[in-house]
This record gives sequence, C-alpha cells and structure tokens, in this order.
Amino acid sequence: MNLDTAVMSIPLRRCISLTAVAVIALSGTGCSREALPAVHAFDTTDLDGSVNPCTNFDDFVNSKWRNATPIPPDVARVGILDEMQNRADETTKRIAEDAANRLGSLKVDSDEWKIGALYASAMDESAINRRGFDPVKPTLAKIDAIAARQDLTAFILDDATGNDTTLLGLGAEPDPTDASTMIASVSDFGLGLPNSGYYIDDPANAPALAGYTDYLRVLLTLTGVPDAAASVQAGQAIGFEKSMVAATLTPEALVDAARIRRVVTVAEANQLTPAFDWRRYFDAQNLRSVDSFMLSDTAFFHGVNDLLASAPVEQWKSYLRTHVLIRFAGRLSSGFRDASFQLSQLLNGTAKAPPRWKLALESVNTEMPDALGRLYVQRTFSAKDKERALTLVGELSNALAARIQSVGWMSAPTKLSALDKRAAIVAKVGYPDKWRDYSGLDIEPGDYFGNLVRAAKFDKDAQLDMIGKPTDRTRWTASPQTVNAFYGGSNNTITIPAAILQPPLFDPNADPAINYGGIGSIIGHELTHAFDNNGRQRDRDGSPVDWWTPEDAKQFQARADKLVTQYDHYALVPGRPDVHGGSRGSFTFGVLTESENIADLGGVLVASDALQRTAEESSSGTIDGYTPSQRFFLAYARTKRSNTREEFLIAQVSGDPHAPDNLRVNGVVANVPSFGEAFGCKPQDPMVNDGEKLVSIW
Ligand SMILES: [Zn+2]
Repeated sequence: MNLDTAVMSIPLRRCISLTAVAVIALSGTGCSREALPAVHAFDTTDLDGSVNPCTNFDDFVNSKWRNATPIPPDVARVGILDEMQNRADETTKRIAEDAANRLGSLKVDSDEWKIGALYASAMDESAINRRGFDPVKPTLAKIDAIAARQDLTAFILDDATGNDTTLLGLGAEPDPTDASTMIASVSDFGLGLPNSGYYIDDPANAPALAGYTDYLRVLLTLTGVPDAAASVQAGQAIGFEKSMVAATLTPEALVDAARIRRVVTVAEANQLTPAFDWRRYFDAQNLRSVDSFMLSDTAFFHGVNDLLASAPVEQWKSYLRTHVLIRFAGRLSSGFRDASFQLSQLLNGTAKAPPRWKLALESVNTEMPDALGRLYVQRTFSAKDKERALTLVGELSNALAARIQSVGWMSAPTKLSALDKRAAIVAKVGYPDKWRDYSGLDIEPGDYFGNLVRAAKFDKDAQLDMIGKPTDRTRWTASPQTVNAFYGGSNNTITIPAAILQPPLFDPNADPAINYGGIGSIIGHELTHAFDNNGRQRDRDGSPVDWWTPEDAKQFQARADKLVTQYDHYALVPGRPDVHGGSRGSFTFGVLTESENIADLGGVLVASDALQRTAEESSSGTIDGYTPSQRFFLAYARTKRSNTREEFLIAQVSGDPHAPDNLRVNGVVANVPSFGEAFGCKPQDPMVNDGEKLVSIW
C-alpha cells in the first residue's frame, strides 16, 4: 500500500501507518493557487473537559472528535492525516479530470495529456468490463502450458523479463555495504494475506483464511475454472503459501534491518537456491554485468528453493495462477473487482467499495507521480512555502544537534560521529528540484491495462538503469502529493512532501507552538530515525559502519530495551485483551514498534526544544487560556487524531511498525517531563513515568 515504486529492502520509514481515504467535498476549482478551507489553528472547544489531561491525554484532546466522527463506510480509518490526504486527492482529482476533459486541446504526449488519457482510461468502466480477463489470458496460458518441473523456472525467468507479476521483484537501491553505489535488489511477493501471522493455525485466523480461500476460488471460477476444480486449486495455493510462511521472516524480524539486508554474489545465491539459476535470471534481463545483488529475506528464498525442488508441479501452477489473478484483480472487470473488495471488507471492516475515481487517481499517482506532483505543487505550495519549511527543518536539525551534545550517557567521540551524521542528512522538502521525465512513457487513450503494463515496465527499466551507478541522494521516491513523511536509512535522507506541509499541521496563520507540535514533531521524528535502533548502525551516507564505543552502544541498548518493555505492556486494541500484536502469538509488540517509538519520543523532545529556542515562545502569552507549551502538546496529540475499525487495528498491531495512534500520544508524553510540568501533573499520574520508569534516549 506504499506508493513508493522503488523496491527497497529497508522501506522508507513512514511517519504514519497505512492511511485509508474518505471524501470531503470542497468547493472551488481553478488553476491558480488554491485557497484552503479555513482551519482553526487549534479549536479548544474540541477538548473534553471531563477528562483529566494527566490521566489520559489522548482522550482529553481527541475523544470528543472521535465520538463525533464516524468512519465512512468505504474506508478503514479516518483521522486528521486522512482528511489532509483527502484534500490533496481532491486537488489531484481535479487536475486529472480537467486534463481528461480537455484532452483534445492538450498537446498530444505532453505530461498533462498523458495524465488525462491515463485517468480517462481508468474511469472507463464499461471498456474495462468488456475486456473481462482478456489482459491476463496470455499469462494464464503460459502457466497452463507448464508440464514439467524445469518449465517452472522457465516461466519465472520469462515473467521476470516483463513486469514481475509473481514471486520475484527486481529493482535498485543503495548498496547496503557501500551506500554510494546502487545495487540490484531482489524482493519477494510471496503471500496473498497481509503478513505471515494470518496463516498460523489459530481460531482467530479462521475467518480471514476462509475468506481468502473463497476469494481465490471465486477468482478462478471467473476465469472459467469449474467450481470443484477451483476449490481444489485454491486449497493447493493456500497450502503452498503456508509452506512459504514456514520459511518467511516474521514481521518483527523484518523490521530488523540487519537481518534482511544481505548482499550475495551470484555464485553464493546459486548455492543458496540450487534449483534456481540466478545467472540466467540476470542475463534474461540484460544484466550480464551484475555479479552481486541484495537478496531480501534469504530464509524465504531458501524455502522457495525447497518448493522448486519438491512441491508438486500442479500445486505450483495453482499458486502462480491465483497470484497472477490477485495481482491484477483490481484492474479487471467488475466480477474480479467485487471479489477483491469482499476480501478487503473482511480484512479491514469496510462496508462499501471506494468510488471509481479513487482507483483511477491511484493509477495516475502510482504510474506518473512526478507529473501529477508538479501540477499539484503549482496549485498548493509556493517557493515561499518551501523556504519556510526548509527554515523549520533547519531549526529542528539544530535542536537535534543540541540534544545529542547534551545527553549524559554518550561519550565525546561517539557524539562527534553522531553530529557528523546529523549534519549529513539530506532534507528533501516540498517537491524535487528535478522532476522526472515521462517522455519515454507510452500512454494510449482507452487502453487502461496496457497503460499500466507499459508504465510498470517504464518504471522497472528506470530502476534497472540505476544499477551500478552512483546513488543520487536527492532523488525522490515519494510524491509531493503524499500526506506522509519519510526517513531513508540506506541513504540518510528525510523527505517531507508538500502535501503534509499544509494546515492544520503547518499553518502560516498559527502561533509557533501549534506548528512545532504539529509538523515540527513529525520532522523531528524523521530526523530521530537516523539514531534509532536501526539508524544508529549506519553512517553519514547510510553505509553500515559501527561508529559507537562499546560502552555507548550498551547505554543506548539499555534505554531502548526499557522502551520495548514499556510498549509490551500496553493494551493495544480496546476490548480485545487477547490481541498482543507481533506475530505467531508471541508477545513482541515492543520489538515490532521499537524504532518508531524511539522516533516518536525523540521527535517530540526535539520539537519541544526547538520551540523553546524560538524568540516567539518566550514573548507569547496564553491563547484561549493555554500556554505555548500546553498548545505544543495539544497540537502534537492532534496529529494522531483518528478513528480506526477494529479489524484494521488488529491487522495493524500484528505487522505495522507504528503503534496505534492513542499510544503514540500517551506512550510518548509520559516520557516527556515538560509535558507533566505544562499540565501540572503529579508524579503518580498515569501520564507521568516518574523516576525509574522514565525512558530517556535522545
Ligand atoms: Zn517513523
């Protein structure tokens, strides 16, 4: 669900977990810079006076909003960031619709023309329905033709020369042993359910597994497979995936960067998977000079090798067939889309399919993110906005430097290395300095599926072209119209897109406390990722260099472990004490969310310091009866304001490295002494971790 098209073994760290979208109708059209709807800097009538902020700060700030804000039927969650994304989507939707309406008058093959043609092809449901599943028939025919074991490898190689529809994905990323050069990176698309935890034999998983089995059966019958045979094939595919799960790393292991970033030579990879020849794999894609590459989750590939050597060919075919259909179901005729929606309904709890325009817009956002982003920025984000945001990033970075200098547990030599890394962080703010060139992308009016296939190939070719070349740390892998923020561990960069630099998080009319508590805490969060449990293992360029003295590393670990224990003991899903998070029933939520929790805590502390360093803070009095420090925390808690369906929350705590939003408020402020001071809390209050209980890292 990440829009990033780059295959990254360490995904960019997002500041928020998966967002779903809802619709807010906005008035006004036009191509000049748009007026945003009026937003109060902070409306204190939102606060729940019946809740003591020292008892439950999240409820104090957000419960009134939660009670008044139902979750729209087509989404799994609604929150302040979702509302911001809706506004960005409304703007990009108007851009795409406008281009589609004016297609005849636009210059053929200009970026805007391509946006309009792609969007219109995605909106043409009757044409898409008429084609049924024609677009995937050639691939299904190739799978049907597999007769013997050696044909399996031939199919996988053939598939790789196209668009990586099943099993393997190939891209480029900074070499994890030397971040200055890009290296080939192979990842897997092994499973159809969100993560390995869903496949465990546990009564709690039974509904999802049954729903998934039925989904596969329905997809197969829609391609003409008789019902009885479809049931058999669906069962074979699930059995195959369960075998894969046995070899796949757990979600909490996947957040441990060291375990998934392994560079292997082609010869070593061939030893790891004797049943699959990696030389042939790269040669088939004209990558004859590749002699080493990144293999994500080597345990998984070891498992695939066993399956290549021993799983029945018919079972392989059932797996491949169903996974081609899963991958493309959302782009085929209505029966496939309905089946796909029924599964997401089961997994996310949504009651209504999203409107067509959201899917069409997603296609444009995925295939031409920069082209759409350039037009979005023209309407929403000025050069002056960029300048202001860069100044704010600079202030937060300076506050982080001061914090590093002041921590008592770290020695002077390690501090010097940390400060050097901090100074080397590349901040990508608002929009890229250099936009991507789409002149080589062929978009044809009326050919939705063909457009997606050509766009995916265009993107893959661009990825492969980077292999062996120097890493460009200024390249964007998120779009400006994304309401999110990122830290790139493999190249030591932060990305703060234009769409998150908007009210109410970043509001030119708000007092500084609101902006530092809002966007400031998010920028601080991304900067802190450079020094979380993963980030600290890399140097100024993102290369794995241990710049810590053993004693400093021990001190860090003791503090991080304490934070892990704290989060392990929180209740995660209200009313469901049986849901512990982690996977396979183990109680490891604190490990799964460790890096994000460190960044949340560091982000708030850094932003709070930055506010105190500003002259405005000392000179401004109370507003609506709240001091600047109080308003800072109110604004911070508001960034996590959301309502989430229970089904989605359960999925989140089993695989998302971010804690649920209420914990991202209460778990954080309890470790921030200035919070208790601001609200006059007592040492024994729930929102205060006093004495030994206090965790202090950055
Ligand atoms: Zn993060």
